[in-house]
Amino acid sequence: MDRRNFSKKVIAAGIAIPALNSSTFSQSISESIDKEDIKKLPARDFDVIIAGGGTAGVVAAIAAARNGAKTALIEGKGYVGGTVVEGGTALHSFFNLWRAFPGVEKRQVVRGIPQDIIDRLLLIGGTTGHTEVTNRYDYDSACTAIDTELYKLVVFEMLAEAGVNIFTNTLVAGASKKGSAIEGIITQSRMGREFFRAKCFVDSTAYGDLSAYAGAEFIELNDHPVCNSMGIANVNIEKLYTYLTKNNALGELAFGLRDGKDGQIIRFGSESGYTIHDKLPKEFVDGIVKLGSGLITTTVHDNYLMFIKVNYKLPVSPTNRDEVAKAELIIRQNQFRTLELFKKYLPGCENAFIARTSPSLNIRRGRTITCDYDIPLEDIIGGRHFDDDIMAYGFHDSAPKYQVKNGGTYGVPYKALRVKNIDNLLAAGMLITSDFQAHMSTRNTVCCMGQGQATGTAAALCAAKKIGTRDLAYIDLRRSLEKDNVYFES
Ligand SMILES: Cc1cc2nc3c(=O)[nH]c(=O)nc-3n(C[C@H](O)[C@H](O)[C@H](O)COP(=O)(O)OP(=O)(O)OC[C@H]3O[C@@H](n4cnc5c(N)ncnc54)[C@H](O)[C@@H]3O)c2cc1C
Repeated sequence: MDRRNFSKKVIAAGIAIPALNSSTFSQSISESIDKEDIKKLPARDFDVIIAGGGTAGVVAAIAAARNGAKTALIEGKGYVGGTVVEGGTALHSFFNLWRAFPGVEKRQVVRGIPQDIIDRLLLIGGTTGHTEVTNRYDYDSACTAIDTELYKLVVFEMLAEAGVNIFTNTLVAGASKKGSAIEGIITQSRMGREFFRAKCFVDSTAYGDLSAYAGAEFIELNDHPVCNSMGIANVNIEKLYTYLTKNNALGELAFGLRDGKDGQIIRFGSESGYTIHDKLPKEFVDGIVKLGSGLITTTVHDNYLMFIKVNYKLPVSPTNRDEVAKAELIIRQNQFRTLELFKKYLPGCENAFIARTSPSLNIRRGRTITCDYDIPLEDIIGGRHFDDDIMAYGFHDSAPKYQVKNGGTYGVPYKALRVKNIDNLLAAGMLITSDFQAHMSTRNTVCCMGQGQATGTAAALCAAKKIGTRDLAYIDLRRSLEKDNVYFES
């Protein structure tokens, strides 16, 4: 049976596809790069290169530059921000799950650069701020929603202010190694191919492109649907809210800053733990379920549903360009059908239209890169901390089924961010953690941002000291992170 048919059968049976160890695939990419005459390419030199300017990458680049490194950020799109401005509803989570555990102290457990971003957004009306969830707070006790477009602007400005050399519309297209270290990366843009050298690298491409090009070990689990998340405008939020409430079909709920006014609905919907409410008309629910659409959203504007997700399960890994191309069309058709259902069945949405879509489909994970440590679920729900913690984190996307013990936190260890067998490569974002349920925690935006700050800081320190990532003394990393307002619980 070929892999595609095998995958289809496995998915149909509801079984996670066994890991595809793609060492053959990564080898073939590396080989083709080795054949290029790299010496002929225009070359640039940096201390630190951050590959991918998304959720984790922008924070990594700001951290590296603020710590004195001559930093380059390579981003394939024309803007920075990544999935945080394309995929999900709210930034999960700057806080521990205190409301689900009476008596537990409310703690902001992620601070540092991620909080700097929120502070900047607050100044221009680009976030609801950190608000308390009033319904289903056993899932997340706090809600932090953002304006996707202002987020792109703010992080772009922060990168520029930090002195990061920003290369947008530039793809990481290959890597060249000397022994077990990366010497440089090959990029592709309208200026052609170039060679970017650096002392230390961070892979924050979400799909682990740089690691794969550098021959790192990885697996492709294909255990999530892909998604394109759209913004729907011209909606009467209060009318929709009243309808859902009257029909006893309200799921999560939070109030906060909306268009400059406090105490407004900023998170609501008709979903509970990824299940659409059965109190809504059957034809509507059946249609929405068939389309793979979501009914939970956030907003920072009076007439806008910021994120409505439309999911689609690919038969193969989302690194398969040909299958992704088909899915891009199917998802756009399903977004339109979802809008039609909203207009027909949901009061307040009669005149709605699609105001924003993501430029390409999103994925909850592509490649998972093998690092020196792979965080298991037990570490997370057990609230384990390490002697090389780089941050504390307390959110789990499968709560209340899986929660961090006693509303506390676990630590992400530095060793979980060091790409195995490569001396000068760190990984940050959704590309770490192989266990499905452990990843349901580490992949969330605020955890990715915290990993970004740690990897950017570590890369700057390694570059300054001219050492590999495994030679960095933890105490030096810890001191730098503490200086930059990272919060620790051990
Ligand atoms: C549909 C969906 C809903 C979600 N909902 C939520 C939610 O509600 N709350 C939450 O906290 N989390 C949510 N998540 C999870 C979270 O958004 C992601 O896991 C997280 O944002 C990933 O961050 P990252 O930095 O790893 O990747 P990204 O933010 O995707 O950044 C990767 C960046 O690298 C760039 N890139 C990729 N390859 C290359 C290359 N070869 N060369 C140059 N640039 C490249 C990309 O353009 C992108 O900018 C959701 C995810 C999805 C997909």
